[in-house]
Amino acid sequence: MMHTDIVIVGAGPAGLCLANALSGAGLSITLIEQQSEDALRAPAFDGREIALTQKSVAMLKTLGVWERIGERAKSPLRDARVMNGSSPFAMEIGHKLTGHSELGWLVSNHLIRRAAFEALKAGSLDVVTSERVTDLKTDASGARVTLASGKTLDAQLVIAADSRFSATRRMMGIAADMHDFGKSMLVCCMTHDEPHHHSAWEWFGYGQTLALLPMHDGRSSVVVTLQSQKIEQLQQLDADAFARDIERRFECRLGRMSLISSRHVYPLIGVYPRRLVGKRFATAGDAAVGMHPVTAHGFNFGLGGIETLSLAILDAHAAHRDIASDALLQRYERVHRMATWPLYQLTRVIADVYTRDSLPAKVARDVLLRIGEKVTPFRRAVAMSLAGK
Ligand SMILES: Cc1cc2nc3c(=O)[nH]c(=O)nc-3n(C[C@H](O)[C@H](O)[C@H](O)COP(=O)(O)OP(=O)(O)OC[C@H]3O[C@@H](n4cnc5c(N)ncnc54)[C@H](O)[C@@H]3O)c2cc1C
Repeated sequence: MMHTDIVIVGAGPAGLCLANALSGAGLSITLIEQQSEDALRAPAFDGREIALTQKSVAMLKTLGVWERIGERAKSPLRDARVMNGSSPFAMEIGHKLTGHSELGWLVSNHLIRRAAFEALKAGSLDVVTSERVTDLKTDASGARVTLASGKTLDAQLVIAADSRFSATRRMMGIAADMHDFGKSMLVCCMTHDEPHHHSAWEWFGYGQTLALLPMHDGRSSVVVTLQSQKIEQLQQLDADAFARDIERRFECRLGRMSLISSRHVYPLIGVYPRRLVGKRFATAGDAAVGMHPVTAHGFNFGLGGIETLSLAILDAHAAHRDIASDALLQRYERVHRMATWPLYQLTRVIADVYTRDSLPAKVARDVLLRIGEKVTPFRRAVAMSLAGK
């Protein structure tokens, strides 16, 4: 039997950042991950380019993660354009609305993972790899975690960062509301003849949604959302046929395009648990809030929650108070829910209205975009949300 202060389940970007935020203050932390150590040390490209807000970048700097990401791997996101159907009109959201020289930054998910793993401080932190949590029991006096190998750990607090489909959350009997958008998202990296000027596109086309996320060296991450069956067909095309298909979908606005990476598909399922905490238990990252990626808030919310939870735990530890008291965990739940629930719901509405193809929906979204373009406070609010202010 091992004893530790905190068990974190899942060494995804959220679990790793949380471990970084909590370590070095005298608490013993055990991070449990089902993947191998090699996979954590050199995570494979997974197609995701994460749009990070200014607030998230500041947090990654504090955690010692940001400087471990190469300069050319951090692409500035200067502006964003939202488009509807085949109309040439676009609502422009510029960085100038925020007072920063960019709205945020784009970094590959696997590079965030790698940097967050490299930043882990040896000493008070124990990383257990190739292990899965198979059972969890908690009560007022502590938590007991059982691993697939049969080993057990006693802890004061267990934090689940094991994805939006968190098995640990289920072990605690916490129900979650799931919304299946009935679509999938294909992501890959492409080059194109026309320059992107570091402007992101969100293009609500008819029968499809496209996004373009600008990166250094004339590359862009291309994101296509379609019904799952159509995404499968797209994934099976050879590289050349795929590039021609994507050119057509973008109405050749980017000129000739070439596929330069593997393609990855993600089914779109939003998840919001009924509770974010339990007895000596908390959720973090996607296990706490599983966002639809269209508003690019998933990991940004994850980092916000990690900041709230880690500061509360470190304060309690410094004051020799219980680091997993009901009051502390409930305060975290209140703050994180207030920060995420409204946008989770709004994102659901946006994803629904902007992908409906009835004539009234098409007209309504065009009108909304044109009004939005004229109302500077609205555009500023969107810009501030992208910048994380
Ligand atoms: C296409 C796409 C684009 C996105 N774009 C953005 C964006 O622009 N901006 C943004 O902020 N967010 C974005 N996101 C969201 C972002 O990727 C997620 O919020 C983030 O990756 C979640 O990290 P996590 O660590 O919580 O979960 P995960 O990345 O799912 O990691 C969970 C970890 O837990 C491990 N695990 C699972 N079960 C167990 C178990 N029982 N025992 C041990 N280990 C376990 C898994 O192996 C994994 O390593 C996007 C998501 C997608 C799909």
